[in-house]
Amino acid sequence: MYAGMADVAALTGDTSYLAAIGKIWDNVVSKKLHLTGGCGALAKGEAYGKNYELPSDCYNETCAAVAFLFWNHRMFLMSGDAKYMDAFERTLFNGFNSGVSLSGDRFFYPNPLAYDGVKKNNHGFAGRAPWFGCACCPPNALRFIASLGGYFYAAKGDRLFVNLYAQSEGAATVAGTKVLLKQTTDYPWSEKIKLTVSPEKAGEFTLCVRIPGWVQGRPVPSDLYTYDDPKPAKWSVRVNGKAVAANLEQGFLPITRKWKAGDSVELEFPMPVRRVRANDQVAALRGQVALERGPLVYCLEGADNANVLSATLPDSAKIKAQSRPDLLGGVTVLNITVAQTRVAPDQSSKADFIAIPYYAWNNRGNKPMTVWLQRAVP
Ligand SMILES: [Zn+2]
Repeated sequence: MYAGMADVAALTGDTSYLAAIGKIWDNVVSKKLHLTGGCGALAKGEAYGKNYELPSDCYNETCAAVAFLFWNHRMFLMSGDAKYMDAFERTLFNGFNSGVSLSGDRFFYPNPLAYDGVKKNNHGFAGRAPWFGCACCPPNALRFIASLGGYFYAAKGDRLFVNLYAQSEGAATVAGTKVLLKQTTDYPWSEKIKLTVSPEKAGEFTLCVRIPGWVQGRPVPSDLYTYDDPKPAKWSVRVNGKAVAANLEQGFLPITRKWKAGDSVELEFPMPVRRVRANDQVAALRGQVALERGPLVYCLEGADNANVLSATLPDSAKIKAQSRPDLLGGVTVLNITVAQTRVAPDQSSKADFIAIPYYAWNNRGNKPMTVWLQRAVP
């Protein structure tokens, strides 16, 4: 319905629709969005919860993630503001992507941020299921993946927007000229993206590249989540080797020049491991911390760790990213050293943990999992 409202607002320019849909989006992104970009916290009624009602044992239907992607894309098309594609990217890489197994044939209906390893919370199944009696999520996910290429770029007048990053090739028509774009990258593992811009004939236009919110030290376009260290990363954009001044417009870096075939744009988005905390109004997450690297949210899973649900991540724990091509189809894991685990009500012992990208959980059997960890032993 919200995607439909955004369409009506865009097509009619009706100011009451524009104001209403903007207000609803602000409410969701500042009070009702899980860190994974999942939404619709409550199983009962498949509904949003109250403001700041964001339990880790949540519903977050895969279809709701798809709908949130549709809605954000429309809000972006209407406004040209990158904040909507920031929200889109968070959901795409995390709370949507978790809905499909790495094998592509097992699905989640709900996408909780914590799981005990046994509960039959997936419409009667424990863990991923091959199908459901009411099978909305599997085809919704597959149809969305089939359409994903259509969200990477947008063109308006003499502006060509680069919204998303991944190894890919695309084409768009800007200022009357067909432009081929090639992205060479290992994103979201790698910090570097190379864009090769090839217009059919040389000409002036503006290439607008999205500088993600997470690069700028802002996980979401609201105060719902913050990084412990919100210092923006030292990102850079170079055209044919020359640095471009960092003057952003609505989250995009506009580069206006006469482009010719084979011009290259090199982006570098540093990916330090970030500790995240939720707004203090979120009662379920007080005193807790989560981990991110680049656009990815991480979790602890029982396949790699003991006592996942009593794991504690003190601020003193060291965290190091490590590329693991052998694991889960090739992921970057976070190695956490000298964290703690609670072994009895008032007793804890030192422990090391391995965190994996949230989207890749429950591909090695039904094990406990959690995104949020206590900062201190309670
Ligand atoms: Zn569904």
